[in-house]
Amino acid sequence: MKNSISNVVEIAKKICQRKLSKGDIAVDCTMGNGNDTALLCSLVGEEGRVYAFDIQEQALLNTKKRLEGLNFLERATLILDGHEKIDRYIKDKVQLIIFNLGYLPRGNHEITTRSETTIEAIGKCLELLRPNGVILLIIYPGHENGKLEKVDIHEFTSALNQKEFNVVQVCFTNQINNPPELIYIERVKSN
Ligand code: SAM
Repeated sequence: MKNSISNVVEIAKKICQRKLSKGDIAVDCTMGNGNDTALLCSLVGEEGRVYAFDIQEQALLNTKKRLEGLNFLERATLILDGHEKIDRYIKDKVQLIIFNLGYLPRGNHEITTRSETTIEAIGKCLELLRPNGVILLIIYPGHENGKLEKVDIHEFTSALNQKEFNVVQVCFTNQINNPPELIYIERVKSN
C-alpha cells in the first residue's frame, strides 16, 4: 500500500531523513552490514562525517565494501571497537546516533549487543548529543537477549529528566511474535 509503514526500521529511516542535513556528524553504533552507515553517509553528504562501530571484523569488511561501491568511504570512519568506548573516539557534538541492536543477520547469533554495554554506550551518547540531536534505539525482543535489553533500556531511558530529553517509545501493538521496537531520545536542552 502506498506510503504505509509496517515496521519501526522504516520509521527510524524517516527520522534520519528528517533530522540529518548536509555537513552533520552522525554515528552508527552497530555497523553490521553497513545499511544504516550507508544511509547516514548519504544524508550528511561530502562535508559531513559518519562514525561507525562494530566489534566484528567481518562487519567492518562488509561495510567498507558497501561504502566503496557507493563512493561514500571518504565520509566515514569505521571503528573496530565496542560502542561503549565511544567517548575515546568522538569529541565533537553529534546530531544523530543510531543503534540497531541484536546480532548480525546471517552472522553468528552468539555475538549480540548486551544490556550492560548498550546502557553504558547510551549514557555516553547522551553527553555527545547537541541540542535537538537524537538517539534512535531499535530493539529486537524476539530473542532472549533482546528481551533483557528491552527491559533494561526502558528502565534507563524512562528515568531521563524530561527537562533535558524527550523520550518516545514506538511499537506496533497489533503485531505478533514480539515485533521490534523503537526508542527515540531527543535532547531538548544543551548540556
Ligand atoms: N546496522 C546494521 C546494518 O545496517 O546491517 C545491523 C546491525 S546488527 C543488528 C547488530 C550489530 O551489533 C552486529 O554486527 C554486532 O556485531 C554489533 N555489536 C554487538 N555488540 C557491539 C558493541 N558492544 N559495540 C558495537 N557493535 C556491537
